[in-house]
Formats: sequence, structure tokens, C-alpha cells
Amino acid sequence: MQKQHITTHVIGYPRLGAGRELKWATEKFWRQEISASALQEVGRKLRRRHWQEQQDAGLDFVTVNDFSFYDTTLDTALMFGIVPKRFGASDADRGLSDYFSFARGAEGREPLAMTKWFDTNYHYLVPEIDDDLKFTLHPEKILGELEEAISAGYRAKPTLLGPVSLLSLSRASDPKHGDPLQHLEQLLPLYGELLEQLSAAGAEWIQLEEPVLADDLSAAQHAAIVRTYMKLGQHKGGSRLLLASYYGSVRGKLNTLFTLPIDGVHLDITEQPEDAVTAARYLPDDKILSLGLVQGREIWAAKLAELREIGEEVLEHIDAERLWLASSCSLQHMPHTLEHESELPSPLRPWLAFAKEKLVELRHLSQALAGSADEAVFAANEEIHRRRALTPGVEVGSLRESYQALDRDEHKRRLPFPQRIPRQQQLLQLPEFPTTTIGSFPQTQEVRSQRAAFRRRKLTAEQYRVFVKDQIRNCIRKQEDIGLDVLVHGEFERNDMVEYFAEGLKGVASSQFGWVQSYGTRCVKPPIIWGDIERPKAITVPWISYAQSLTNRPVKGMLTGPITILQWSFVRDDLPREQVAKQIACAIRAEVLDLERAGTAIIQVDEPALREGLPLRQNEQAAYLSWAADAFKISTSAVAPETQIHTHMCYSEFEDIFQTIIDLDADVISIETTRNRLKLLETFRNHGYPNQIGPGIWDIHSPWVPSVESMTSLLTKATGIIPRENLWVNPDCGLKTRQWKESEASLRNLVVAAEQLRACT
Ligand code: GLN
Ligand code: ZN
Repeated sequence: MQKQHITTHVIGYPRLGAGRELKWATEKFWRQEISASALQEVGRKLRRRHWQEQQDAGLDFVTVNDFSFYDTTLDTALMFGIVPKRFGASDADRGLSDYFSFARGAEGREPLAMTKWFDTNYHYLVPEIDDDLKFTLHPEKILGELEEAISAGYRAKPTLLGPVSLLSLSRASDPKHGDPLQHLEQLLPLYGELLEQLSAAGAEWIQLEEPVLADDLSAAQHAAIVRTYMKLGQHKGGSRLLLASYYGSVRGKLNTLFTLPIDGVHLDITEQPEDAVTAARYLPDDKILSLGLVQGREIWAAKLAELREIGEEVLEHIDAERLWLASSCSLQHMPHTLEHESELPSPLRPWLAFAKEKLVELRHLSQALAGSADEAVFAANEEIHRRRALTPGVEVGSLRESYQALDRDEHKRRLPFPQRIPRQQQLLQLPEFPTTTIGSFPQTQEVRSQRAAFRRRKLTAEQYRVFVKDQIRNCIRKQEDIGLDVLVHGEFERNDMVEYFAEGLKGVASSQFGWVQSYGTRCVKPPIIWGDIERPKAITVPWISYAQSLTNRPVKGMLTGPITILQWSFVRDDLPREQVAKQIACAIRAEVLDLERAGTAIIQVDEPALREGLPLRQNEQAAYLSWAADAFKISTSAVAPETQIHTHMCYSEFEDIFQTIIDLDADVISIETTRNRLKLLETFRNHGYPNQIGPGIWDIHSPWVPSVESMTSLLTKATGIIPRENLWVNPDCGLKTRQWKESEASLRNLVVAAEQLRACT
């Protein structure tokens, strides 16, 4: 048999470096500790190292221009001169300092808006298009990186965001001017010119990413895709074009894609593996199929045998030269490598594959499909999966039974809100406009360094406990002195609102270096949910009880909700998310009941990530919202009517989830409304929200101390929107990123504002 070869590549690779080198260097640059050229040098080294990793793993191409100092959507916007007027001259060729000002703002200039990137936990900067913008081409970054890769001897495949996704992700500076897609005609010639330049610079293949293809496309977007690629097909020079979709199946759009004058189509087949064969069967002769079969955003080791089978079936329809193997999407959403993890629970490690390990999976699959499989690897992989299912903790019979036994009646509070609230009030005796905070108090340098010392075993558990208790005592004293009505313990023992709970649950592991970029230099280290979830003992009760023992005012118990824990973790792939959510909910329910038993009269369950979990496609949203609400209700409904349940949600898009917010039936919800001047509160009223609400009246994201007047004015406005007896007074979010000084001053003003409102009837 003639030896075959199957081409391999990835859509993109993590860019910060395995040790988050880019983060550290960038932050040094911001603090003016290193020069721009030193930062550029760090970037160059990382690109080089990441290409080398791809080449060492045996990939045929290295991907170029997936690197960014902050965000690739920003880079693409700048490439086409998309800069709003407030940033001055429309010329986008600026130094690094100017570059970062788009992302972070500068004196007198608001940064670009930032929002979630599709259904990932990554955030991108929203390009802002002025109505009279003249698009201009600035190809230096992509050409420079291409040249860097080619001259270093790599077979380089440049990638960039395609025009339809770029415009769909943008917004008009002036909302009156509506749909940014109207600029397509002006933008296309520049994309054409860029492709010609890339081609002249020696790009054999160019990857254009159109993640919108996995969304529900509007008719206008659909037409724009056709128009765009009909046109760009004429400008590719000697290069070939790969059109890449990801984050789900393209569903009915395959027909359209196959008629376009492009040379290859990349499909994410992880959601609907059957797409692979359908695509292969109808693939036109002039195209290659890039099969995104290795999970680009899940950290679990592939089931190699299954993927190999998919590949083999595909090869019944197309020749090996026309099949490429790839990651489903860019690997940027997963940690870099497992190489430095030394503390993962031992059975877990072989179940995982981070970005660098995914490259090796691609190589094994490609070899196998080319007829030279390393059978030992395949056998070992099967064995790992067989054993994984049998590992103690993966499926705990007794837990499964108790989850099953939870029937729907247990999702509801025993009494409806109108009957609960007077009982709660009788117990709590709160004044009108009760004042409270969202939970965390400043995580000072001291708090962080003591925790780090405890982690490095420089502090004993007892010493650390004493330290945290001191912090709590101080925090309670301060809050009493300020005059708040409902106190909190301050969350000093928590590194992160999800990781802290993950550490108290069985079936969840933490990595040491599993960092993933959230935005810019901000990274998160999601816990890994691998088994059935059990809460062996109370997690927060000792801290809350201690805090309560120090004061006669009520101290709120403070928990993270099941959906937020789920959304901000890597979730096992052998159980539906819905079931994992319910397992977490049962653990939180137990914690809630323990808090109640310990005498906690108010318990807050934070769900800032509820909206984030909403699926991209409309037909999947209702099912998600229904089980997400169930999970919250399982967590909170077991308490007595007298116990008051609070929830907190920041980030302010609620329109499409309103019924769910009502269904949660929390007694009190606190929301982020300062920046939008209570607009959100109006939305609550318009939807007939029946329970109590704490509209944030201090924007804690800004370092300024809000004046009493600014807060009374918001509160007065609020009384015009919802009945005063339903109003609470609180900041927008937790204070962990603030300093004590401004927190104290702001809270004092907040208490005065509440008093002034009480005084005027
Ligand atoms: N209770 C948390 C805090 O105050 C809530 C954080 C959040 O909403 N993201 O920090
Ligand atoms: Zn918040």
C-alpha cells in the first residue's frame, strides 16, 4: 500500500505561555518596569516557542497571527483601521502604549467595551465603528509574524477573523446607525488586498475564521457570507483559503459553504460527529475538509478509537490528501500543558490532555489514518477510558440514588413569597431600606500573602485560621461602626469564589498551572469536575458562625451557586451538564441547611454566571434555563419560610432570561445598576418582578467614593420605579478588588443615603 499522509494543524494555540510569561511581561510594561521593545521580545520568543511545539508534535502547519498582546479581535479591528474618534487620529499604526489604551482606557478616554466571546469564558473587545469611518489597511502585524515564521523555516498558515464575524461582533458608535454589516462593501476590498499581500509574502494557506457560522445566522449574515467569499475567492493570489467555523455544528449551512470559491472548509464536529461523513460525502472535488475532531476546549483525553473510526469513515468518501485533522477550535480556551502538574490526584492525570497534549493526539490520529498507527498508544488509550469509568468516585451509587430521589416538590419553597416575607421581617426586624454589601471585603496584600504562605506551608492551619478570624473580627467591627444592617464575614478565606468551594467538594480537583486567558492578562484556573460530587463536611459554617458570634446584627451566609460553579469549571464529559449541575446543587443545599441549622437567618447564593451559560442557539435556551433554575431552587428551597434567601447577579443582560430570574424565587436579589442609572431596575418592574431587590447604587468597578447625593438621587429614583418596601441598599458587587479606605468612606455615604430616604416618607 502506498504510504499516505494526513495533514494536521490547529485553529490556534494558547498565547500567554505555559508559565503565563506574556501576562507577567505585559504587567511589567504597564508598571513601566520594562520597555516596549523588551515586551516585543517576550512576544517574539513565545511565538517562536509555540510554533516549535506545534512542529515538534509533528503538525504540518504552524498557525500564525493567533498571538496577541491583548485580544485578536482588537488586532483585527486595528488591521482595518477600526478606531473610534475618541481615540484621536484614525491612524491605527501605533505603539504598544496606544494599543493597550484601546483595551484599558487612558486619561479622558473610555476603553472599548468588553464582552463574552461566543459561549466561552473568554472576553473580547468590541470594535466600535463610527458612521463615517474610512477603513484603512494596516497589515504590519500579520505580515510581520508571517515573515518571522517563514524565515525561521516553519510552514506557516496565517489566520484571521473573517469580515462577517468581525462586523457581526462590532457595534456602531452611534446606535442609531444600526447594523455594522452595512460596512461590508467597504471592508471587503481591504480584506482582498490583505489576502493578496499574504499570498505575495508566501502564505500557502490562509485561514479565515467565521465562528458566526455556528450561530443562528440572520438572512443578512447568510447573504454576507456568500457575498464575502465569492469576492475573496478572487483575491487569494497563489494562496489557498481555508474557511474555519467552530463552537458547534454549521448545520444546514454546508450546502452554501460548498458552493463558495474557497479551497477548504474547517468543521467543528465535536457537537455532531455525524457532520463528518455528511461533509465528506458531499465535499466538492476542489476542496479539502479540515475535520475538527480533537476537542479544542475540553481538557479530557480524546477517545482515540472513536475518532479514528470517524476518520476511517470519512476516508471512504474522500482521498487522504483531501482530509486534514484539526482541533475543533483554537486551543486558547484550555491550559497550556500538563507537564508541570505534580499534584493532580493520581488516577486523573491520564484522563486529561491540555493544549500541548492535544497536539500529540492529532499526530496519533493522523498516523493511524495514514495506515501506520501506533497501536500501543491506541490500546493504552482504550484502557485509560475503560478504567476511568470504574474509578472510585466517578460514579457513587449512594449519591446517584439520592439525586434521583429528589422530586420536583422539593424544588419549591414551602410558602410563597407574600407569606414568607412577613415572617422573615418579624424575625429580622430590619428598617426600611436595609443596607448590606455583596459579600467580599478588600483582599489586601496582607490577606493574599498570608494565604500564599499557608499554601506554601509557611503558616500552619491553626495560624492561618487565627489570621482569618482576626480579619473577620475587624470586618464585623467596621461594619457595625459604619452602621450597616445586614453584615457579612468578608470572604477573607477565599482565593476565588469558585475554586474555594471546589476545594471543599469531592469529585472536583484543582490544577496548579491550569490557567486560561479570560481577557488581556487576566487568567482563570477552572477547577476540574471529574466525579460525582459530594460535600463531606460543611465548608462555610465555621466562618459564618464565628462572624455571627461577634454581633447582634444578622450576618449573611455567603455561597456560590451551582450554575456559577459549573460554568467556571471544566466539566466531566461523561455526564450531561444538567446532571452535574444538580449534583452541585445538592451539595449547596446541604450547606444551606447546615447554615440554617447553625442559626443563619439570611443566606445568599451568588449566581453571576447564570446568564453566561445560555446556549448560543435559541432552540437550546429554554431547556438550559429550566435546569439552571432547578439547580438554584434545589440549592435554596429546603429552608424554612423564615430563612431569607438572597442572590446576587452582576453583568447586566437579563432581558432574555427574565422569567427564569422570577422563577428562582429568591427573597432578595441584588443587581448591578449604577452605571446604567437604574435602567435595569425598570426592566425588573416591567417584567413584574415580585420579590425584593437591591439595585446597586455604588459602582465598585471605579475607585471613586460616591457622594451621598449621588446615592440618594439613585435611591429616590428607585422608589419611583418599585415600591419602597421592596428596596434594599447595597453596592453593585463585592469589594474584594477595592481598598479599605475608599470602601469605608463609600459605605458610610451609603448608610447616610439610606437614612435620608427613611426620613422622607
Ligand atoms: N459574593 C461575591 C463577592 O462579593 C460575589 C462576587 C461576584 O458577584 N462575582 O465577591
Ligand atoms: Zn457581582
